[in-house]
Formats: sequence, C-alpha cells, structure tokens
Amino acid sequence: MLATQDVYAIDAADLGADDLRERLIHQRHVIDLMELSFSRSAAEFAATQDYENDGSATAIDWIRIHCHMTGPAAADRVAVGNHVSEFGQTVDALVDGEVGFAHLTVMARTADAVGSKFNETVLVKKARENSPGKFHHICRHYRHAVDACSFAAGEVEQVENRRLKLSTWFDGALLLSGVLDSVGGAALRAALEPLARKSGAHDDRSRERRLADALVELACGGEQPAQIQVTSSLDTLLALAGAAAAEMEFSLPVSSRTVERLACDSGISRVLLDSESMVIDVGRSKRVVSEPGRRALKARDGSCRWPGCDRPSSWTAAHHLVHWTRGGTTDLDNLILLCHRHHWLVHEGGWQLVRGDDGRMLTVPPTVTFGPSPRGPD
Ligand SMILES: [Zn+2]
Ligand SMILES: [Zn+2]
Repeated sequence: MLATQDVYAIDAADLGADDLRERLIHQRHVIDLMELSFSRSAAEFAATQDYENDGSATAIDWIRIHCHMTGPAAADRVAVGNHVSEFGQTVDALVDGEVGFAHLTVMARTADAVGSKFNETVLVKKARENSPGKFHHICRHYRHAVDACSFAAGEVEQVENRRLKLSTWFDGALLLSGVLDSVGGAALRAALEPLARKSGAHDDRSRERRLADALVELACGGEQPAQIQVTSSLDTLLALAGAAAAEMEFSLPVSSRTVERLACDSGISRVLLDSESMVIDVGRSKRVVSEPGRRALKARDGSCRWPGCDRPSSWTAAHHLVHWTRGGTTDLDNLILLCHRHHWLVHEGGWQLVRGDDGRMLTVPPTVTFGPSPRGPD
C-alpha cells in the first residue's frame, strides 16, 4: 500500500482498490475535522448579532445563504458548535477516526433535546459501535428513556405540522406534496409497501412508479373502493369517431378508453350516461356482476389472471373479456380478475388478453412504432 502523500499524487483512476479505499477514508477524516472547525466558527458567529447587518433573520439563515448550504445542514453545524465544549470524549474519538462528524450532529441534537440529563460517556460508546444512522435510532430510544414527556411533546409537534397539498397541473396531472408525522407516515407506508412490491419477474417499474400505482390502487381497490363518478355519452363509451371526452369528478375530461375501464367493473365506479339514461338501465344486467357471481369468480381465479401476477383477489376488478358495451355478458366465461395495473394495461395500455386452448391467458403487447413511417418513393 502507498503512503498517504503518495496516494494523493496519483489520479483516482490510476489507484488500486486498496489505495482508493484508503484515500476515501483519509479524505473523509480531513473533511470531518474541517467540519468540526467550521461548527466552532458557526456557533461563535451565531453568538453575535452580525447576521442582522445583512438583513438575515437568523445566523443559520446567513450561513445557509453565504456558505451555500441547506438550512438543516447549517443548523446542525451551529448545534455541534454550541455543544462541542461538552463533547470532549467524542471530539477525541473524531480526531482518532473512531467516529464521524455525522455522529457529532446526532449527539448535538440529542443534547439539545434532553438538556441537563445528557450523558456523553453513555452515548460515545454507542457512537463508536454504530453507524450514524443506527446511532440516530439508538439516540431516539435514549431520549425517550431519559425524558418520555418531551419525547411525546416532540411527536405532538410533528402531528401539528402535518399537511398535504394537492394541485392540478395544466394537463390534469395531480401534484402531491406534504409532510406526515412519523406514525401517520408509517401507517401510510404499511398500506402502500405491500401493494408496491413487484407483481412478478416481468415487473420492470421503478420503485417510485410502483409506489404511485400503489397509492391509486389503494383508492380504487380493496373492499371499500372510492366511488368515482363519470359522466359520459353513449358515443364516448362506444368510442365512436367524433365523440367528446367524458367528464370525471376532480379530473379534466378523460378518454373513452378510460371510461371503458372504469365502466368495466361496476364495483369500481358509477357511469351516468348524460343523454341516454335508458341504455344504462338496459345494460345493467350485463354490467353488474352479482355477489354470488363475484364470489364464484374470486374462487375460480384467486388472484389477478395476468400471467405471473399474484395480486390477491381483494385487489382486483372483474374485467369483461368482451366488454358489455359490445354485447359481453356477466357469465363467468366472459370475466377474469385483473389487478389495477393490468386492468389499465388492457384498456388504456393497448395490451390484449387472449385465452389459450388450455384456458390460460396469453398477453399480446401493443404494436409500437417509433418515429414517422418511412417515406415512400416520389
Ligand atoms: Zn376491463
Ligand atoms: Zn396483475
């Protein structure tokens, strides 16, 4: 292995794996020592009122702007600087490379929270033995153990800060932003995570996309799906040329393909035909799957019938292989269970489901064309 000064004389790309690892550890140690020095300066600066000369509301705000940092990162440095005189053992551990600056920020936040009950000797041992993330977890337990009342007060404050903002983009897409308290967030994740798992080996959606699908599935599926109200003309539902789009509550107008899906299983939505209300009544027996029929369908299919998908029947809709608008019936032969994603793929995604000779469902992908058609001869 090379000596440290030699490691720095060589381009990272030319270093062997051992020397590159050594360089990374050494560089981070130097940065951590600089962070400690920066934190001392930040706390000294915060003790003055100098930040007011530039019109900054707080010292953290001044540091955030002039040192090009995020607010929480600046606040962490001031907190460490404020407590560093009480952190003799932890600073020694940092200098010796046994803990990182990230451990110090956790230590400072814990000292802020528990005040005079803070015990460095207990915590520095834990800091040496654990990663910063795990140490943060341990410090949460420590805070509860030494002052359960203030711990609970912190939770109440989190709940008070909850909010969810829904705004509609110009094309109708919904933007979500918000903050949930730790417990509320955990409940949401407990509901979403099982639905966001990959639905089989063929599932190549990113985690973010699976989570987005899971949220919509949560609203559309399950034992008590949200009632979505759609108003459509019969021409739109039949996808006739020249038909207008359909109206949907809380949405911009939606396509006939989407109406077809929403109308496929009446358990999901209500479709009101705005001019031909007679027709919906006539079609009702073809559209609505009876409760015994639905139980038989669930017993037969068990889960989504898309090849390789194992979404259980409670998270599926009854798909008409021949849509009721084209004469399909609610007989079991014409129905299969599909999960939200695969139901979407069949109606809006352009996929076809075909029953093979052995009764198994086969999928036919949509025909995709890239770019304009080749130009013919003049
Ligand atoms: Zn369908
Ligand atoms: Zn499925």
